[in-house]
Amino acid sequence: MDIENLLQELNESQRKAVEYNDGPSLVIAGAGSGKTRVLTYKIAYLLNLGLPPHNILSLTFTNKAAREMKARVGQLMGESVARRLWMGTFHSIFSRILRTEAEKIGFTSNFTIFDSADSRNLIKTIIKEYQLDDKTYKPARIQAMISNAKNALVSPVAYAQSKEMQEYDMKAKIPMVRDIYRSYNARLQASNTMDFDDLLYYTNRLFRDHPEVLKTYQDRFQFILVDEYQDTNFAQYLVVKQLADAHHRVCVVGDDAQSIYSFRGANIDNILNYKSNYPEARIFKLEQNYRSTQNIVNAANSLIKQNKGQIQKNVFSENQVGEKLEVASAFSDFEEGIIVANKIQDLRRSKDSSYSDFVILYRTNAQSRVFEESLRKKNIPYRIYGGLSFYQRKEIKDVIAYFRMVVNPKDEEAFKRIINYPTRGIGNTTVGKIVDTAQLHNLSLWETIGDPLAHNLNVNTGTAKKLNDFHTLIDGFIKELPVASAYELATKIVKESGIAREAYQDQTPEGMSRQENLQELLGGIHEFCESRLEEGEQNIGLIDFLSEVSLLSDQDTDKEVEQEKVTMMTIHASKGLEFKNVFVVGLEEDLFPSSMTKSEPKGLEEERRLFYVAITRAEQFCMLTYAKSRFRNGQTNSCNPSRFLKDIDREFLNANAGVLEGTMGGFSQQTQGNFWDTVRRNREEKEELQEVKRKEESIFERPQIPVSREDKYSKPNFVNARNAEPKTPLTKDIYGIQVGAVIKHERFGIGTVSAIEGDAASRKATVEFENAGVKQLLLKFARFDII
Ligand code: ATP
Ligand code: MG
Repeated sequence: MDIENLLQELNESQRKAVEYNDGPSLVIAGAGSGKTRVLTYKIAYLLNLGLPPHNILSLTFTNKAAREMKARVGQLMGESVARRLWMGTFHSIFSRILRTEAEKIGFTSNFTIFDSADSRNLIKTIIKEYQLDDKTYKPARIQAMISNAKNALVSPVAYAQSKEMQEYDMKAKIPMVRDIYRSYNARLQASNTMDFDDLLYYTNRLFRDHPEVLKTYQDRFQFILVDEYQDTNFAQYLVVKQLADAHHRVCVVGDDAQSIYSFRGANIDNILNYKSNYPEARIFKLEQNYRSTQNIVNAANSLIKQNKGQIQKNVFSENQVGEKLEVASAFSDFEEGIIVANKIQDLRRSKDSSYSDFVILYRTNAQSRVFEESLRKKNIPYRIYGGLSFYQRKEIKDVIAYFRMVVNPKDEEAFKRIINYPTRGIGNTTVGKIVDTAQLHNLSLWETIGDPLAHNLNVNTGTAKKLNDFHTLIDGFIKELPVASAYELATKIVKESGIAREAYQDQTPEGMSRQENLQELLGGIHEFCESRLEEGEQNIGLIDFLSEVSLLSDQDTDKEVEQEKVTMMTIHASKGLEFKNVFVVGLEEDLFPSSMTKSEPKGLEEERRLFYVAITRAEQFCMLTYAKSRFRNGQTNSCNPSRFLKDIDREFLNANAGVLEGTMGGFSQQTQGNFWDTVRRNREEKEELQEVKRKEESIFERPQIPVSREDKYSKPNFVNARNAEPKTPLTKDIYGIQVGAVIKHERFGIGTVSAIEGDAASRKATVEFENAGVKQLLLKFARFDII
């Protein structure tokens, strides 16, 4: 595209930021103001100036962001050019570098990558080997500690020598962390595997210890661009700095108000200190938001103003004023699911939108289930982005473990996963012996079973034969590796390993779904080979496929997001994305803000930034929902609306009366009281009060049952019904319920009884709920209140 035309698609400030390339620059600006657009156009601009694509390094936070940017540059400058850019996530670019340079840091280029579950398994094994108590040495906690150490570039040796770390660990009564860290790293290295953090850690090591290698890459990357710079951690920051040291041609963009990864070691100071690192740096600010309506931008501004530690920014929108943000309260998480599903259906019809214009954003993955249920019931297609993604499913992980084993036979976790899968009579005792023997002789598990006699592996002849068969099987695949395509070898593995047979023998729905997943995987590999061929590559082997899938982080899985489906994802995964309609759900104290973070102001501010990220994903419509009771950790708890709802200026919100009252936490009774006031007011307005009263009187046959109407409205007592004894045993009295009665049910919310049938213990009421549809309730068990 002609360069002038290209620049015309930018506003004045964006254009200046794109055109300045004489030294380092920082673009700092609020959400939706075109930071990512500036990076994309800058790349096009640089290409236009004649910089070859392979000299440009562009780092993004998710694979999806990289794909989108590449596609856009492709449109602007041609696909073949875009393909040759070094564009990807930190992890994918670094793993590419590490594969080329693996020998220099004690690995071979076929190293495999552990996902988080593999790492945790290995940590568990080590804790067991040290005979430590895993209640004190919680594997997840140790994993996080090791990860933090790596991201701060603290080696096991440095960890062991650090007084500060030791004191901390002593105080926390976990003095052996340093030993676990050391063993864990040694084991990874011995099995030629890296965990996710290693990709950053070893790149730093590589550049620190091999200046000539650093020089090569400094010369290669003549220009470096980084998106979402506010979320880089120390290890990422340092690599960028080292690479840019030679020429200082680096442009980073970010928004301090969207820094949401401090729990992973991201350091907002990176953005604040940019100027001291590069005193000559130019700073650009962008103020106009092009993504969202004025109401959305203003609501988000009013929210983030509540944070103290924020760079003051002026963000405005010249788009339509738009609708106010809608706030909805639900009785339960269940009803929240239905409210959202209904709204999606309504909006899709009234605005003629596509399902892919909708996203449901939540704080924790576990929240997705109720929405899955409610969308499925309405036949609304959806996909969960992240969570238990395709590659996390058991049958897929099993097959991938075979691939890993074939590519890198030393891979310990892969070995353990497949040695007895499908079952071949090699039990845990034998695996234990193999592990012990391997430790003793300093060998990998694979080498140990290669020659059991030589290593005194103490197993009987039957077991020895089974091990030998397994060895022969894998060895056969290994021999194919250099000659077979990824697809050929993958198909062979699925067939000959017995996995296919096992899946196809199982005709249960689960078995069928496993078969479909296996087909899907092979189909995916086929497509992968085809597309790489199209890109002009040859000999696309299993190792190429594996490198690609190992880098799909759990929040970043596949490409079908564009399809006609509602998207569900955590807020963390939504960074940088945009959708026409956004639902931010579960706005309750202890969920969002999460209970773990709200005790300290810093934690609370990060949660608020997370909420800011969520709202600013919306282009046209944004709905915020909360439930008054939620099933969590095995029980139903009553919940209070999130304090964040109060942070938003009321003039930008559309909430029914009472919905926003008491949104400070700790006032659940008050909220409920307000709710009942609202119900009463509505009924009075409709002149139905007398009617309700009449029904009520007829329902309660025994005079000792409740109480004055005042009490009844202000103290609904079912909310904790599963946890505590209700103060009045309501369920016994509702047998007298009649057609026409209006009830408030714990999960389904408000409804009207339309039929009653059966006697005594089997008495059932049919109830038409306002949101949840028609339900039949067995009165013996039903939990509701009559209003
Ligand atoms: P975030 O902070 O969420 O990552 P961002 O600052 O990176 O946001 P972009 O995603 O680059 O913002 O831009 C937001 C939207 O506005 C995109 O759809 C983009 O194409 C559009 N946009 C940005 N600048 C302009 C412009 N000058 N003219 C038209 N559209 C624009
Ligand atoms: Mg962006």
